[in-house]
Amino acid sequence: MSEQATPPVKLRASVLAAPAYKQGAAPTKPGFKLSSNENPFSPLPGVLEAVAARAADSNRYAGAAMPELRETIGALFGVGPDHVALGAGSVTLLFQLVHAAAGPGDEYLYAWPSFEAYPSLGLASGATPVAVPLTGTAEHDLDAMADRITDATRVVLLCTPNNPTGPALKRDAFDRFMARVPSDTLVVLDEAYREFVTDPGAVRGEDVLTQYPNLVVLRTFSKAYGLAGLRIGYGVGSPAILAAAASVAIPLSVTGVAESAALASLAPEATVVHDERVAELVARRDALVSALRELGLAVPDAQANFVWIPEVAAGAAAAGQGGSGQGGTELTGVPNAQALAADFVEAGTLVRPFPGHGVRISVGEAESLPEALRIVHAHLAD
Ligand SMILES: *Cc1c(COP(=O)(O)O)cnc(C)c1O
Repeated sequence: MSEQATPPVKLRASVLAAPAYKQGAAPTKPGFKLSSNENPFSPLPGVLEAVAARAADSNRYAGAAMPELRETIGALFGVGPDHVALGAGSVTLLFQLVHAAAGPGDEYLYAWPSFEAYPSLGLASGATPVAVPLTGTAEHDLDAMADRITDATRVVLLCTPNNPTGPALKRDAFDRFMARVPSDTLVVLDEAYREFVTDPGAVRGEDVLTQYPNLVVLRTFSKAYGLAGLRIGYGVGSPAILAAAASVAIPLSVTGVAESAALASLAPEATVVHDERVAELVARRDALVSALRELGLAVPDAQANFVWIPEVAAGAAAAGQGGSGQGGTELTGVPNAQALAADFVEAGTLVRPFPGHGVRISVGEAESLPEALRIVHAHLAD
């Protein structure tokens, strides 16, 4: 809101001071949009038909309970439908959970850099965001996070794999962390990219859910299922926590079309294609990581559908402090994330810069890989 003219009515100063949400611009032909971690594939077979059929009922409100979808999702976690909440994107559930748990004077904790929505979640509730820097390998610093928990901490957000950097939390590190979190403090495991995880040591929501009553797991249909535009995600956890979150929800925000699309996406016929597509995106991701490391870049472990190129200060780059590579080659980062992103824009392709931290490149169309590598290579040669 800060760039707007003075509003004609009294508004909250904290809201007026907040930066406006900026969505990335559209790419120019023949470039690619690699800036929002979207799925390059269209919705799964059967989904558009289900959407078209359901759209015919658009004059009616959808039934808010959506029991079949909650039952289907619950079965994937081995819990009943009362342990499942739906939201218009999992970011909606994040917002509700923070609002249900944290108000003025309370704190909520997360790693940084992480999901860009986290800092503003407390804006409307009045809770104070507390960001704990990632480690040098772009992972959650769980010890530092546990140290930072106080009586004021009401929610801890864990993003795994971490958007924008890529590494997933390990199961053993997660269990050690949970042992240090008060059992009456809400922990949210944001697994928006769960389907792309290939590290067998990574924590999985379904494995730990019953062990920790203070844990809520969030997943979405926006990324691996390719339904970003339809807005549907879900949370799994204690029915009492989810009921509190529902109390602060905007009613009826999950549409019937989104419900039908989600159900069709989970159908057995769709699941086969889903698994093939995820495997293809994982293969492209791994190829992109290898190629970028061959260019000398210290790309951290990538467990989602994006890769991270860190920014390193010029002096550190010269001294090779960005991490060490195979065979004595020092891996490093780029000196200026925004300059690299600007080179992408120039070429018609969009990536997401995090000024001072690095650049995130989403794994997109097969043809986007050589193009991304070409741009990075030219940038490094400059
Ligand atoms: C994309 C994303 C989400 C949720 O997106 P929705 O479209 O609202 O479901 C949640 N968390 C992280 C870390 C994400 O990157």
